[in-house]
Amino acid sequence: MNWHTYVNKTGKVPKWPYPVNYGKENIITSDVLIVGGGVAGCRAAIAARQRGVSVVVADRGFSKRSGSGGAGVDHWHGAVKNPCSKVTPKMYSEAAMETTDGYTNGLARYIIGSEGWDALQEVEEWGVQIRDLDDEFKGSIFRDDETKLMFAYDIENKHCLRIYGYNIKPVVDAKMRELGCEVYDRVCVTGLLTEDGRPGARVVGAVGVNDRTGEFYIFKAKAVVVSTGHTNRLFNFAPEMTESQSMTNLNQTSMGHVIGWRAGAELIMMEQSGPNVLSGMGYAPYSTGNDDNTYQGSRIVDKDGREVHYADAEGNLIYDEEGIFKSSEEGSFVIGHGIALDHGIMPKYKISGTDPDLWSKVQSGEYQMPFYTDFPGMSDTSRDIIFQLMLAHEGKCRVPIYENLTKWGFDPAQDMLQYPVSDYGKLPLNCSWCGTDKTPDNWRGGEGGFLTDWRLQTTLPGLFAAGCGPLPSQGCHGESQTAGRYSGRQAAVFAEAHDALEPSRAQIEREKARCYAPVSTEGGDIGWKELNYAVARLMQDYCGEYKTEHTLDMGIRRLKDLWDTEGQRMYAGNPHELVRAIESLSLIELGLAHLEASKARKSSCPILGFSRVDYPEVSDDWHCWVAVSQDEGGVKARKVPVDYYLQGEYSGDLEENYRKYAELEGK
Ligand SMILES: Cc1cc2nc3c(=O)[nH]c(=O)nc-3n(C[C@H](O)[C@H](O)[C@H](O)COP(=O)(O)OP(=O)(O)OC[C@H]3O[C@@H](n4cnc5c(N)ncnc54)[C@H](O)[C@@H]3O)c2cc1C
Repeated sequence: MNWHTYVNKTGKVPKWPYPVNYGKENIITSDVLIVGGGVAGCRAAIAARQRGVSVVVADRGFSKRSGSGGAGVDHWHGAVKNPCSKVTPKMYSEAAMETTDGYTNGLARYIIGSEGWDALQEVEEWGVQIRDLDDEFKGSIFRDDETKLMFAYDIENKHCLRIYGYNIKPVVDAKMRELGCEVYDRVCVTGLLTEDGRPGARVVGAVGVNDRTGEFYIFKAKAVVVSTGHTNRLFNFAPEMTESQSMTNLNQTSMGHVIGWRAGAELIMMEQSGPNVLSGMGYAPYSTGNDDNTYQGSRIVDKDGREVHYADAEGNLIYDEEGIFKSSEEGSFVIGHGIALDHGIMPKYKISGTDPDLWSKVQSGEYQMPFYTDFPGMSDTSRDIIFQLMLAHEGKCRVPIYENLTKWGFDPAQDMLQYPVSDYGKLPLNCSWCGTDKTPDNWRGGEGGFLTDWRLQTTLPGLFAAGCGPLPSQGCHGESQTAGRYSGRQAAVFAEAHDALEPSRAQIEREKARCYAPVSTEGGDIGWKELNYAVARLMQDYCGEYKTEHTLDMGIRRLKDLWDTEGQRMYAGNPHELVRAIESLSLIELGLAHLEASKARKSSCPILGFSRVDYPEVSDDWHCWVAVSQDEGGVKARKVPVDYYLQGEYSGDLEENYRKYAELEGK
């Protein structure tokens, strides 16, 4: 029975179905704790367990399907060592750094390039199909007939794979459980525990709250991996509409960043920002006619069936299917979408797209709106590769798009899929996913994360970062699985070498008091959605497109005021609302980290999407990371070279560093 039928039949809302025990303590001890059981977290757990240490995983949702990767994947990035690839880990890392002028995670990308193929072969062993085993696409330009591997974006260099990944999360989740990792679902980790409760000290565990029972969890561990993904609730919040990005998961609030920030870890790239093209009154991602990413290569026609051509990144029209999947520059390769490099990417690494003059051709009458993805006009193989392989396996597409369209009678052999009626010149990548260019004036941040060393250890001893979000500018599925696998291994090695330390009771008590305030304070009248909306509104105003020292200071003051006023008047009617309230309060702290980083950078930086009205020049002195952290003395900021991982104590050679720190022995 669904909610509406129940209320109609009984005239009542259902009672809370779980026993509620606010404050009841559960104490769990392990060698390694994984905070966040998304794909990165599951892989970290598996890798640590395979090293022989005990592992506990705390996940905000149900780890079988939780996280951005929970609904599936069609593109696997970073497996550059697959037998068909012409790209090396060095090329992969250096291209990423070159195309972003150094502002990306070159360190993690080298690790990912080195191990991505191993990580993918493991999921194949565990039950995910990564090859065209039934020869469905034999002879296609996307397939290597010997290995039966299938490729996207670049069919010459063959480094990004098309895979059958709809079941990938249940598969890695089952493997993690089979190996004996202890999993605590529906526990939101809300704080880290540090040696003697001091900021900046070794991490010795974490605390959290169960969103069904309200019980309190104290996790004691020798090492902790943080893999909580990213957020979309900081700059945008209207969950009843697609406004808050129907792409992602409301359980994700970058809590990992906040608990690290509160414990004194250094964060970088927190000032990165840009227009939020995924939000707005859009259609469900991938549900409209499209020619990008999952749909790249599909045939496009106008109202009268006239074909629209693709163009390479230099704007040259392409007339054959093979040409769509090549770099615009001989000898280069296409990096592809989804690895946090989409802004400002250099043409030679960019994927091809629709004719850039399409809109002017509409205005001149050469083409007539609307446009369509012309599935029937494609060869059976090319149509099936998009509809049956990519769409059916891509996250959030299998049920809402592929299964529903099929159930409702859509037959790609006969039917076309309509594009939204729009200015086609303005439909950038992400808008074409959700079918609109008409997003409200709307800003976002979100590629920042922990400053790490070659072990992916943060600046707090014993705290490791993994996956999209905690690792700055690292943003896709295959990369997250691979980095998770590496961080888990590193955390196990750390746990083997260090004794357990007893957490500080005073710190636990402080955390407890903070968490339960919304259910222990009398007279609360602010709900979590109201607070979350207020945070998002403030972030739009004070950390949006136009920033000055004064407005950033105002933003900091207003967020702190929000904490002291409405933040102290929150109520929660049940454990679900309590955890949402804790998350919404933590967004205030996350916002402060963004504002402090933005204040610290005294120069504009187009690649980071960062512009200061009072510092419009792009100064060479600021070609660096700005690392922000806080301790009892307040907020600190320092400059760090963008390629810090090739300087100082490190070798200037990527491979030498990798070999030295990767802990490949006993893997
Ligand atoms: C619809 C969609 C389609 C995509 N398609 C592709 C694709 O085809 N190819 C590709 O490369 N990438 C794709 N991506 C991106 C990819 O899914 C993500 O980059 C990847 O899932 C990141 O993995 P992760 O483990 O770092 O984070 P997530 O998978 O997001 O997992 C984060 C986990 O942390 C948990 N968590 C959060 N906060 C807490 C807390 N406080 N306490 C405990 N647990 C917490 C969450 O419950 C979640 O399980 C897609 C993303 C979406 C949304």
